[in-house]
Amino acid sequence: MSAYVERNLWCETAAESFAGDPLEGDRVADLAIVGGGFTGCSAALHAAEQGVDVRLLEAERVGHGGSGRNVGLVNAGLWMPPDDIGELLGREAGAKLNRALARAPDLVFSLIERHGIDCHAARNGTLHCAHSKKGLRELRSRLAQQLSRDAPVELLDAEHTRARTGTGVFHGALFDERAGTIEPFAYCQGLARAAVEQGARIHESSPVTSISHDGNAWHVQTATGSVTARALLLATNAYHQLDTDTGMAEPVFTPVHFFQFATRPLPPERLESILPGGEGCWDTGTVMSAFRRDHEGRLLVGSLGALDHAGSSVHRGWARKKLAALFPDLKSEPLEYAWHGRIAMTADHLPKIVRLNDNGLMIFGYSGRGIGPGTLFGQTAAEAIATGSEDVLPLAVLDNYSERNTGLRRRFFEAGAVADHAAWMGRHPFV
Ligand SMILES: Cc1cc2nc3c(=O)[nH]c(=O)nc-3n(C[C@H](O)[C@H](O)[C@H](O)COP(=O)(O)OP(=O)(O)OC[C@H]3O[C@@H](n4cnc5c(N)ncnc54)[C@H](O)[C@@H]3O)c2cc1C
Repeated sequence: MSAYVERNLWCETAAESFAGDPLEGDRVADLAIVGGGFTGCSAALHAAEQGVDVRLLEAERVGHGGSGRNVGLVNAGLWMPPDDIGELLGREAGAKLNRALARAPDLVFSLIERHGIDCHAARNGTLHCAHSKKGLRELRSRLAQQLSRDAPVELLDAEHTRARTGTGVFHGALFDERAGTIEPFAYCQGLARAAVEQGARIHESSPVTSISHDGNAWHVQTATGSVTARALLLATNAYHQLDTDTGMAEPVFTPVHFFQFATRPLPPERLESILPGGEGCWDTGTVMSAFRRDHEGRLLVGSLGALDHAGSSVHRGWARKKLAALFPDLKSEPLEYAWHGRIAMTADHLPKIVRLNDNGLMIFGYSGRGIGPGTLFGQTAAEAIATGSEDVLPLAVLDNYSERNTGLRRRFFEAGAVADHAAWMGRHPFV
């Protein structure tokens, strides 16, 4: 076991701070939501805005899951290119999901503005950086796919990419002006605050211990109370912790980890050339990595992998060397924060909406792209539950969903990330 002491930058520096009392006693509501991440909080906010009496139960605190741990890139799509989505879902369903995802950043940034959420939102675009010549070919294909959908994207050459990022290691970058960055824990806490202002009730430290349906209503139980509701949204995603031995469906996915490290605030003169435009960056590597700045000028670097096992010293070594490879003068810069989070990766990398009994939905599996999608799926789930129409959802609702070998795949992903980072360090011995 490695000595992993988590220091999550987003939690320690968040400007928003939400507090919800634990659930006490037996309550009745129109809608019960389990899970206080982007999906659950967005659903609570939008349901409350429509006059729905909603109670959300969160096991820990709002933003405890992936929503408080991610990179903060608000993208206008999933990890996979839009044509692949069309191939997987079919032309019409693919086009519907792609259109919905393309407007997800509008939704996120407009909610932030409308509710005054203090999460250092910056709609400065993102840069998808080519780590190799093959990566650049991939970006050319993505460019063509996006332009055919009239998306405002631009392929930068190596020189322009150097000017925008401050590093010369990339072969080019795809700039997407629809995208941007947020500080995710603060965004999630702000969504919860806004939901309560609209009339929702949000209970923290309230782990749900059982869920059942009696033919008329849902019964959601915690150690200190219960909620009886006509409708249910299960929004626990990769942090699902509920022993559903009652036979109720649960999210099925491969848990994949992603870690991040952050420096101290860098001096203002140094920040003049590192991401001067404030874009968030991710790269074309198979084992993807990301980097960005926070609002105080810290530099964050992250990649796939978990920090809580013996082999994770490789990820730590990689982070240090990666920072030095990107910005050689930061070779000895201390890394003050280190944390990781769990991603719910489905077999086809598409999110899933699954029908639960009567008037119940379960949403999970954003596969690493959940800020825009989670906010959007939460919003549309609230609308679907309020109106009884599933057409408003960006994806068709499945009656059930299962996958096999998720444990095996989890080990494969983690071993692959360790091997990739070790190999990268081997190729960069003098960084
Ligand atoms: C490290 C990392 C980096 C990422 N980077 C990005 C990025 O840059 N851009 C992007 O778009 N996406 C990114 N993602 C993905 C994104 O963070 C997730 O898809 C998104 O946060 C999922 O939100 P959610 O609300 O569905 O789930 P979560 O935020 O995981 O929320 C689920 C909640 O359910 C609660 N819960 C579980 N069981 C119970 C129970 N029994 N009772 C009550 N509550 C319960 C948990 O405590 C948790 O708070 C990243 C993810 C990770 C982990």
